[in-house]
Amino acid sequence: MKELLCKSVFDIHELLSAKKIKAVEVAKTFLEHAKLNDNKTNAFICHTDDLAIKQAESIDNQIAKGEPLLPLAAIPLALKDNLCVQGYPTTCASKFLLNFISEYDATVVKKLFAAGSLCVGKANLDEFAMGSSNENSAMSKAKNPWNLDHVPGGSSGGSAIACASGYSVISLGSDTGGSIRLPASFCGVVGMKPSYGVVSRFGLVAFASSLDQIGPMARRVEDVALALSQMHGKDEFDSTSIDQSKIAGYPDLSLNFVQSLKQESPQNILKGKKIGLIADTIGEGADSCVREATLEAVKRLEAEGARVEEVSLEYNKHVLPVYYLISSSEASANLARFDGVKYGARAKDAKDLNSLYSLSREEGFGPEVKRRIMLGTYALSTGYYDAYYKKAQQVRRLLLEEYDKLFFEQKFDALLMPTCPNTAFKLGEKTQDPLKMYLSDICTIPANLAGLPAISVPFGLDKNKLPIGLQLMAPRLRDGELLRFAFALEKLEQAKTSISPLLAASV
Ligand code: GLN
Repeated sequence: MKELLCKSVFDIHELLSAKKIKAVEVAKTFLEHAKLNDNKTNAFICHTDDLAIKQAESIDNQIAKGEPLLPLAAIPLALKDNLCVQGYPTTCASKFLLNFISEYDATVVKKLFAAGSLCVGKANLDEFAMGSSNENSAMSKAKNPWNLDHVPGGSSGGSAIACASGYSVISLGSDTGGSIRLPASFCGVVGMKPSYGVVSRFGLVAFASSLDQIGPMARRVEDVALALSQMHGKDEFDSTSIDQSKIAGYPDLSLNFVQSLKQESPQNILKGKKIGLIADTIGEGADSCVREATLEAVKRLEAEGARVEEVSLEYNKHVLPVYYLISSSEASANLARFDGVKYGARAKDAKDLNSLYSLSREEGFGPEVKRRIMLGTYALSTGYYDAYYKKAQQVRRLLLEEYDKLFFEQKFDALLMPTCPNTAFKLGEKTQDPLKMYLSDICTIPANLAGLPAISVPFGLDKNKLPIGLQLMAPRLRDGELLRFAFALEKLEQAKTSISPLLAASV
């Protein structure tokens, strides 16, 4: 059964349809493999075996009754631990929420459970999704399955490890400034941040509401597309969610779309397409292996008929300060609800209400979360609001207009760049220097600020055999188009990056 661990959704469904395996066997295989190996990688904060087995039994019942297979029937799924699953803990990797049990399912969770998936566990993350290496988790040290001395990337590190190690076929992460794409790139899997509004955020613990999006990860683009086809759509509980299929001219992200994707050749997808290479991202500051991989991708895209042109963006150089001002400001407001009264931990020695608030927050939050709250509160305070928060919003608008110009005036179909200027760094290498850590997000943040869809696809290994990730971006709401480009790029990769040594040793 071990060979199941590196199968795609399609492969598992073939075996199920041919009655060669049962859903319960799939569940047990993945759960046992995770139990045996996750003491090395720490991908999970909590395993949910009972839930996975219950869901698998229900799939087996449906099959026995002759019902058609659901789109994600018997597919092991890991959920970042800032997504609510009714009756199970949601800790956000924070001491604050150590004993918090979710009252309801997040909308995406509900949808993926209804599509037949099996929830194997809640995945590790940087506390409240703030970080780029997963080292801000208050729970355990997550490690990269390609090399256990290296970080898996963050903040959705556990979700990326789960896919890369064969603990799950699909994982969900959340992406505020790159937290799906960065760990996907460090762990050699595919990770997508959909356009803002395509996926409901209801039931995701909010970090920065104007930037947060939930998105899927998997070892293959087609599985990411399949997951997205089951999770998108308008939700009455999230007023920013949209029904993209109602907007004329946009691909509908349906199951049919995913099936049609598989029939396509890279040439079909790429011929005559105009792709922008964001030149600054492979200049000074980018590792040479990352630069070479990007240029190699350009060569292969061109060989399939795409036209690649270098572009540079005037406002891209401001993305870090703009992002850290806006995200921290929103975080300071969103995290005000953690006051020791409504949720989670409550300080024991408080003398009055004010000291209850401050002591609970002092004890419950880790240093990075406190840093963001202080930065955000400062940026929003009277006298500084105009100089910092408002100014950041204005630059955000200029950046958005610049991307619009590229897509709608200059008619680029997609943009290409690395996901990160470097590959996975060593544990502890950047923890003493928050600014250095923040630089990891330089290529991923623009998509969040501009609400664009973006995806990281593995593209070869560096000299230490750590994965390199390339990023593609498309115009807002063109998520289907983006997936087609990603599918083509994956086909052109050839190096078969998708099997980590940990997974390879197990099958
Ligand atoms: N690394 C970024 C941060 O710490 C992004 C986090 C995210 O996308 N959740 O803010």
